[in-house]
Amino acid sequence: MTARILVVDDVVANVKLLEARLTAEYFDVTPAYNGQEALDLLLQQSFDIILLDVMMPGIDGLEVCRRVKSDVRTQHIPVVMVTALDNVSDRIAGLNAGADDFLTKPVDKLALTTRVRNLTRLKALNDELRLRSNTSINAGGENDTKLINVNGDNGHILAISDSVNAIDSLARQLTDHGHKIDVETDPEYVISHLSQPNTYETVIVNLHLENFDALRLCSQIRTLEATRNLPIILIAQKEDKKPIITALELGVNDYILDPFDHNELLVRVRSNIQRKRYTDQLRSEVTETIEMAYKDAMTGLYNRRFMEMHLEKLTKEAIENDKKLSLIITDIDYFKSINDTYGHDVGDLIIREFGKLVEKNIREFDLACRFGGEEFVILLPDTDLRVACYVAERMRQIVAAFPININQKPHIIGLTISLGISTLSSDVKSGDELMKKADNALYKAKRTGRNKIAA
Ligand SMILES: [Mg+2]
Repeated sequence: MTARILVVDDVVANVKLLEARLTAEYFDVTPAYNGQEALDLLLQQSFDIILLDVMMPGIDGLEVCRRVKSDVRTQHIPVVMVTALDNVSDRIAGLNAGADDFLTKPVDKLALTTRVRNLTRLKALNDELRLRSNTSINAGGENDTKLINVNGDNGHILAISDSVNAIDSLARQLTDHGHKIDVETDPEYVISHLSQPNTYETVIVNLHLENFDALRLCSQIRTLEATRNLPIILIAQKEDKKPIITALELGVNDYILDPFDHNELLVRVRSNIQRKRYTDQLRSEVTETIEMAYKDAMTGLYNRRFMEMHLEKLTKEAIENDKKLSLIITDIDYFKSINDTYGHDVGDLIIREFGKLVEKNIREFDLACRFGGEEFVILLPDTDLRVACYVAERMRQIVAAFPININQKPHIIGLTISLGISTLSSDVKSGDELMKKADNALYKAKRTGRNKIAA
């Protein structure tokens, strides 16, 4: 996986060094020698990662980071601050400015490539989520791209170690800083511990487990559905270069060398939690956007716009592949008089109940939509007229057989529905014609007595 990287440093030699190392790993590097140049480039080109020196004349790295992270056009680009080895306050300040990761000078080759790779992978996922969000926005959703505000405070962490003692000081440090930490000393139980989704926000694994292969455990955590996106931080020793590389290839997000610096631990835990929260929020906003754009709020069924887009696709596909496609339009008989007699609350209740009933009585690949008011449309792919009539008749019988409870007299209301059915044929060759034909059939069912189907 390649990436476009913006390297920002006021010292030319530093830029050249990073450029040489990253280019050797096939990353595409663009240099910038001050903060303003970096900000200008960011608006002209697209980048996957920014490596940012802290100390620069003019606009310093922290300010560049703050501006990147508060601009909706650049917020999604991961920022790695490059700091002096012993400068803890820079790292804390960097995190507060919204940085995603840290590298210390002189930059270690392993640390550089692994952190850049990890962030590239994460960005690819976020880009896909942003793309889906844009697709639904372009299709007419009302959501605009929003700035996402998350922090890495008060996380819930699982630490895996052979003994509580070995991890005692780590646990205490994290607890002292507001995190909640559970320690698991039996790796066998870890997977069951983690199978509940959304419990933990980061897991810390000690590479040196006595009776268990820590890398195997990391790989299991990575492949499990519930923990696929859970950040994993490995605790390793200085001489563990090889297993660290393997771990990072397996999808471990980060590592800390033992004995570790107190602040390094806090900063890494915090930034991993923050990144997870960013992705989670992005994901839930995408889901929300799609739900908002394509689902009917009252019934949870698809809305008319989605059905119409989908009907067009289904019709085209069915004609091209010589497949069947049927459509049912149904509405509730005398719905207006129900509304007039019992009020809109009862009317809404009936629409919700009927929506549930429709959904329960179709197959998973059928698509049910609330077309508007008390009218519903069901698309039945791969289905001929005979089966569609059977589905419609069964639905009619079920509705007629089960009255709906309401919380006012007479407490139950008997309902009936009428249904019109159409199918693709030599006369009916488009989505519009399918709709028109079914609508005419529905009208016929209504006119000839209601509580019946017509094709
Ligand atoms: Mg500098």
